[in-house]
Amino acid sequence: MRKRSVVLSTRGCCPWLVVQPRLLSRVSAPGCSAWGRRLVLLLPAQSAIGGRSPASHQPDTTSSPGARGGTCKLWVVPLRHHVLLCELHAHTAFSDGDLSLRETVDVYGLAGFDVLCITDHCVRADDPWLETASRPNHVQAANFDRYLQAVEREADRARARFDMLVVPGLELTYWHHDPRFAAHAVAVGLRSFVGVEEGVEKALVDARAAGAALIAAHPYRLEDAQRNERGTARFAVEWPSLHRLVDRFELANRHELFPWVARAKLPYVASGDFHRPEHLNTWKTLVPCAKSEAALVSYLRSPTPVHITRLAAEGPLGQMAA
Ligand SMILES: [Zn+2]
Ligand SMILES: [Zn+2]
Repeated sequence: MRKRSVVLSTRGCCPWLVVQPRLLSRVSAPGCSAWGRRLVLLLPAQSAIGGRSPASHQPDTTSSPGARGGTCKLWVVPLRHHVLLCELHAHTAFSDGDLSLRETVDVYGLAGFDVLCITDHCVRADDPWLETASRPNHVQAANFDRYLQAVEREADRARARFDMLVVPGLELTYWHHDPRFAAHAVAVGLRSFVGVEEGVEKALVDARAAGAALIAAHPYRLEDAQRNERGTARFAVEWPSLHRLVDRFELANRHELFPWVARAKLPYVASGDFHRPEHLNTWKTLVPCAKSEAALVSYLRSPTPVHITRLAAEGPLGQMAA
């Protein structure tokens, strides 16, 4: 049987990456990150993608029982960039998260994540959420420097202890009693305060100018928002105009999916919207870029596809869902 090698561009579409944690001990790929090592391509022996065999490319292969009963080859693909397991949306006690910033970092560091974006809420002064929340903490102009410094301190600790990148940000949070006017957007890599007093559009323009990558958060359709405590429908209602103000939309948030994002062919990510430990093993984004804030933000601001996956509860690293 003739061997085939596979050429994948990590900046293009590589939809056949399959993670098989139980086989990880049998494969290795020098130079890959922890999660990069876990990315293997599972192909039926007779099939191939591309079919080109550059002399410099010598994939490691090992036989394995096929996923559907046939013989398969595991091809370890030497990725040009590490693929980073990312939480792009997480809250701490700086807003309404249950855990302190340090505890949150430890949860993700011990779980083997490559990237954690801290995106605590900032809200407007007359936001109705402030009247109803049991713990209405939020980031504002007055405490933003302290927040940013705390995130930077934790970023240093996380890099040393876990080799994890911690990125500062905010969730630009605009609640409204009428879900048609409520919208939240995560600003990843935001290092200066941006408020929402003058509305979401102005906040998005300011955050983009400040260099952040912008993600429309839990974009419920109106009929779903009216049944949900996170009743944010504005992005779904007004996406033909608002999509230009953000870089991506959450296709998945925790265990909720937003299929209209796929139907509208909008750029997407998935996040856990972490507020407490049970939100760890939820939908996440895998980003094929260098492990730096600049590379991550640049990638998210581009239209280049990412990979999304759902972590299962079992196992020290979680396991990829089939
Ligand atoms: Zn939100
Ligand atoms: Zn959130």
